[in-house]
Amino acid sequence: MTELIIFTDLDGTLLDKETYSWESARPALDRCRELGVPVVAVTSKTLEETRDMAAGIGLDERFVFENGGGIWLGADRGVLVLGRPHAELRAAFRRLTGFFPDLRGMTDMTVAEVAAFTGLLPAAAELARRRRFSEPFVIVSGGGVAGPAVAAARAPEIVAAAAEMGLQVVRGGRFYHLMAAGQSKGVAVRRLTVEMIPPGAPAPQTAGLGDSPNDFPLLTAVDFPFLVRLADGGVTPCQLPGVTVATRPGPAGWCEVVLALLARPGS
Ligand SMILES: [Mg+2]
Repeated sequence: MTELIIFTDLDGTLLDKETYSWESARPALDRCRELGVPVVAVTSKTLEETRDMAAGIGLDERFVFENGGGIWLGADRGVLVLGRPHAELRAAFRRLTGFFPDLRGMTDMTVAEVAAFTGLLPAAAELARRRRFSEPFVIVSGGGVAGPAVAAARAPEIVAAAAEMGLQVVRGGRFYHLMAAGQSKGVAVRRLTVEMIPPGAPAPQTAGLGDSPNDFPLLTAVDFPFLVRLADGGVTPCQLPGVTVATRPGPAGWCEVVLALLARPGS
């Protein structure tokens, strides 16, 4: 069997968007473990929250965090840096808020605010604020977080202003993320794939699963790209060729497409 690595987004993909449960994906996760197929997190979460999460689920020790800003190569090798330092991004974010006062960065939120907005427990929200290579932010409107239509209308000029600073803005499931230009889940996945090949071994096949636009570079970087459905049963509009869309949302969709992948002819 050709070696296979499965790269997966967490929130809204392997984890239920509201409950953060991965129970619906359990049969496929168990099958991956039986077959020795590594499942690798590729997420906008921080190093600390991903490390806890990956250990709890039983994922590979290695993972991509903060939208490709860094790769955790394991306790012995530590962090491979791909992004720009958080202090630099915060300085740029402050300049952005000069133009767009309706932006609110995660670093400016209290732990209680992050917990309320994300549904995370306070201890997990505290880990979520430990940014190294990205600044998540929301667009505020009328005293609360702007709805999807308002945010989508506002986003292009914010994206353009970030680009003029040599940075980029990508949209995840809950937050926009300010980060280095050229940083992506896809760049990081290509790099980590190389790091995971044992000396002398052939290149593995790769699969990728996501639910949001910030996952598109991940889907482009793999042999088998999958989108799971959103909680409402819809799917993020995606023009990428060759993407298989699960019939179900989040971890239930994850389970469906991974079991089919593991049972594919020739595997
Ligand atoms: Mg997601």
